[in-house]
Amino acid sequence: MTGISIYGVVTDVFRETYTEKPVFSLRIQDATGTIWVKLHFTESWSLGRLSLGHTAYISSLTCTMTEQKRLEARWFEDDLGTSFVNVSCLPAILNSSCLHNQSYLAHLSRQRTGIHICRVWLDQIEHCHVNTRLAHAVCGHFVKTTPSGSVECEFCRCSCETETRRAFHLKITVADESGKAFAWCTGQTAMELLQISPDEFYELPEEEQVIYPCSLENERYIVAIVNCKQHDAIFKECAAIENDVVPWEITRALKL
Ligand SMILES: [Zn+2]
Ligand SMILES: [Zn+2]
Repeated sequence: MTGISIYGVVTDVFRETYTEKPVFSLRIQDATGTIWVKLHFTESWSLGRLSLGHTAYISSLTCTMTEQKRLEARWFEDDLGTSFVNVSCLPAILNSSCLHNQSYLAHLSRQRTGIHICRVWLDQIEHCHVNTRLAHAVCGHFVKTTPSGSVECEFCRCSCETETRRAFHLKITVADESGKAFAWCTGQTAMELLQISPDEFYELPEEEQVIYPCSLENERYIVAIVNCKQHDAIFKECAAIENDVVPWEITRALKL
């Protein structure tokens, strides 16, 4: 079967180790079930940041039955007319009402999968955690420095000394009329919430870094929130280092 499209929630993602060119295994879940998709790249991962709980739309998939009698879909980066959209991180998800139903923070615990769009303000800002770390530019995941001093991306399974950029690691409480949620975020989303770039923030004197977030108390935003907690994912450990086991990720934000 060819030309298949899928729309669903990412429940696992990791790079295969045995291939020469990068191949990532992606597990996608929708209302009807779960499927593994093999993503084939020509040089390196090129889809921006993708993590557990994000919603993706993938087109031009080819489906085959594996030797283990498991249905497997394949996606090739260089196939003509192919597309891969991380819907949870799409700017349009927040400002086009045809793409979402507005939700409330109190609904998060009732419906864990999918994208929640909520109108929130920043709350208990004195308890927020703002930090900057180095992230791999192509995939947005934080890098780690090995004991031998080399810089590695565990998501792409590569060394990436020259391809890093500073990114926020933000853990913050958001609130609306219905309740509160403690969530984390990084990248463009954290920049929008904090209204400053990670490089500018990093340059601030330490005492200014501490008081900076207080200037944002009660600012209002529209945000996309997803549940990033997955018990049985191979990527679980990497994700847990990133989200510090905070179960909710803000994948997109827009200041109102
Ligand atoms: Zn990477
Ligand atoms: Zn941190």
